[in-house]
Amino acid sequence: MAKLAIRTTFLAAAMAMAALTASAQGDLSKVEIKTTKVTNNFYTLEGSGGMVGVLVGPDGVFMVDSQFAPLSDKLAAAIKKISDKPIRFMVNTHVHGDHTGGDENFGKMGVTILARENLRYRLAYPNPGANGQPTPAMPSVGLPMITYDAPVTMHMNGEDIRLLPVKAAHTDGDTLVVFPNNDVIMTGDFYRSVQYPNIDRGNGGNMNGMLDGLAMVIGLAGPNTKIIPGHGATVGRDAVIAHRDILLTVKNRVMKLISEGKSQDEVIAAKPTADLDAKVLEVGMTRDRFIGQVYQEIKAGK
Ligand SMILES: [Zn+2]
Repeated sequence: MAKLAIRTTFLAAAMAMAALTASAQGDLSKVEIKTTKVTNNFYTLEGSGGMVGVLVGPDGVFMVDSQFAPLSDKLAAAIKKISDKPIRFMVNTHVHGDHTGGDENFGKMGVTILARENLRYRLAYPNPGANGQPTPAMPSVGLPMITYDAPVTMHMNGEDIRLLPVKAAHTDGDTLVVFPNNDVIMTGDFYRSVQYPNIDRGNGGNMNGMLDGLAMVIGLAGPNTKIIPGHGATVGRDAVIAHRDILLTVKNRVMKLISEGKSQDEVIAAKPTADLDAKVLEVGMTRDRFIGQVYQEIKAGK
């Protein structure tokens, strides 16, 4: 019975997530790409979906993530405005469609895609949708050609780009991307400067892994490092420390409520984040989803 209840909640969460993705994708024909120069040769591109990072220079373009498929031409045009060199490589920070949706299009342009082995597997064999209907697999031209599960360094444009696997955090295929000479870190979605975290347990996400990832970012960042999240404004190290503290506080409170015998619904009803909500932007449905994910993870004993 309890198992069924958890399952139903999980399904509801999955459906809400699918609805969110669909509405987030919406009509993309009117989306314009906003280019921001972060350093001499590093830029961010915002359209719809996850943040795209672009390192330019004489060796060609290195990209982080690809947003949704309908935006690929606009992204490529925006990149052309900042570099006349070809896009050579792209790394995916995690599997979600708002970060990998353009992979097929960029693959067809000849871009070599890199990602964690788990990410490639999940693109090739995606989880079924909320109603159990199959999700289309990424065509092979859009699959990462190079996979890794240990740190990789790319030497391009005077930069030593570090691709650091974060074992299982937002998903089980997360990569932290560090541009040490530019003093820039891109986190993908295991750190976002908006909303409560999303531990995508269906794609192997894990709260303790998320805490490990945040610790990596905090340890790598210096006082002036620009930390660029998968969603939300660029921040400094202090914001990540504050975010990590919120996660730890919620985890401890949910553990205590569980030890008092509370069910998931009762834990959510107890509002364990009441004094924290003001510190989180765009809370929306992400708060109760997050509390439910923490509850399920602790209940599952990992
Ligand atoms: Zn994501």
